[in-house]
Amino acid sequence: MSTKIIYLDNQATTAVDPRVVEKMLPIFTEHYGNAASRNHSFGWAAEELVDIAREHIGDLIQADSSEIIFTSGATEANNLAIIGAARQNRQNGNHIITLKTEHKAVLDTCESLEKEGFSISYLDVQNDGIVDLDKLESSIKSETILISIIHGNNEIGVIQPVADIGKLCKSKGILFHVDAAQSVGKISINVDEMGIDLLSISAHKMYGPKGIGCLYVRRKNPRVQLKAIIFGGGHERGLRSGTLPVPLIVGFGEACRICQESMIEESAKITELRNRFLNGLNDRLDNISVNGSMEHRLPGNLNLTFNSTNGESMIMGLTDIAFSTGSACTSATIAPSYVLKAIGLSDKQAYSSVRFGIGRFNTGEEIDYTVKRISETVKRLRGVAKS
Ligand SMILES: *Cc1c(COP(=O)(O)O)cnc(C)c1O
Repeated sequence: MSTKIIYLDNQATTAVDPRVVEKMLPIFTEHYGNAASRNHSFGWAAEELVDIAREHIGDLIQADSSEIIFTSGATEANNLAIIGAARQNRQNGNHIITLKTEHKAVLDTCESLEKEGFSISYLDVQNDGIVDLDKLESSIKSETILISIIHGNNEIGVIQPVADIGKLCKSKGILFHVDAAQSVGKISINVDEMGIDLLSISAHKMYGPKGIGCLYVRRKNPRVQLKAIIFGGGHERGLRSGTLPVPLIVGFGEACRICQESMIEESAKITELRNRFLNGLNDRLDNISVNGSMEHRLPGNLNLTFNSTNGESMIMGLTDIAFSTGSACTSATIAPSYVLKAIGLSDKQAYSSVRFGIGRFNTGEEIDYTVKRISETVKRLRGVAKS
């Protein structure tokens, strides 16, 4: 194999699909108008391009294009959804429910609301990473105004039963926000069937550009109202002011169009690669365990514990492969992953765990090479650890 590094960190970000780049390039030089300019054809052309992209994005989640509010990504979409819904509904209650395994963009946003007088329940998950629906139901109070649940987990790939949660929310009249940054374009989503009121998407997790995403905001049954968190020219129905980045939006739209066209085939291919990867490792190594449900899981994700070794040493020994320990590095210490801790791993097991994210551009040859390299490296590290 050449010196090319194999990219297996598709939960961190994805490469931009060349077809997406091709759609974006002419926008920078030819269609550079401001989509809010109403007085000339540059503005009209930009607005039309944005409208087309909005349609592609809406189609992928079965939403109307008017329900798509562009943001800088899923972090901002999560902030707008949670802070916006909380402040808007303050008179109805101050209680919000979420999970301990959410992305930091949800956890830290909820934490910030505690300082405004909101009360947050951070629910445990079961050992397979999935929420216990009975526990969720019994945590609902009369003051509960919002439930925010991640769809596909970014570390362990576990898929939460959002349709069941949506049904529960509807029956109680509680708003339902879903962080779907990892799942949109990978598994099918229907915001009506799933009872979702607010849904966060990020383009760079689905072969689109970084710096763009959106929040789906339901407009009927019920009409969801939010308080804006960014103020200015009143763009995006007043929910998110700021000049629209038309090239990024066009790329985002094209990324959605491609996902919709190829999702079924692609998921099957990626699932096959993942199984080939796991079977290959299990054939060559013992004492490996999969973290999180294998049944309810994003096609490309594998989070594995290689007992009697540690993730950092694996990363250092495998510089020809890009993957991640999934642990948050702060300047001084490396903390064990809070997601792995939440599903019952010890610190030691968490430190022995790594995340692989297989994506659109990976090949069987790359998987076979990676299996070989990992087996050699883990055997070597385990030998060193024993002696
Ligand atoms: C990547 C990610 C985010 C943040 O998205 P950005 O667009 O990078 O801000 C939020 N939630 C989940 C689950 C993610 O995977």
